[in-house]
Amino acid sequence: MTDRIWMGVFLVSIFVIGCSPKASVPAISPEVTPASVSPDALVRLEQADMLDGKADHVIGKCYVCNLGMDGSDKYTAKIGSFTAHLCSKSCQKEFESSAEKIVLETEMPKATHKE
Ligand SMILES: [Zn+2]
Repeated sequence: MTDRIWMGVFLVSIFVIGCSPKASVPAISPEVTPASVSPDALVRLEQADMLDGKADHVIGKCYVCNLGMDGSDKYTAKIGSFTAHLCSKSCQKEFESSAEKIVLETEMPKATHKE
């Protein structure tokens, strides 16, 4: 009579699976989010990235100098999936020590293209 027991287990498990809430549905974006960068900072980084007209994840302007100076590929810092070019060693150091704060506090300069 074990068949009936197994049928019972089978039905119960169907019932449980059918009723369980979809707990595994992620509430936030399934896109790869680089560690340690908030969504707010990410939006700004994408805008800064586009200042040179290319979404290449390289920010060519010095963030520490309010994106007003050209950065150098000698002084770079990683933030999330972006590489920021800084204009000097001290800017590089400063950016590395508080990158996200600087990103969030920097006003986006007007892009060269017309709105
Ligand atoms: Zn600088």
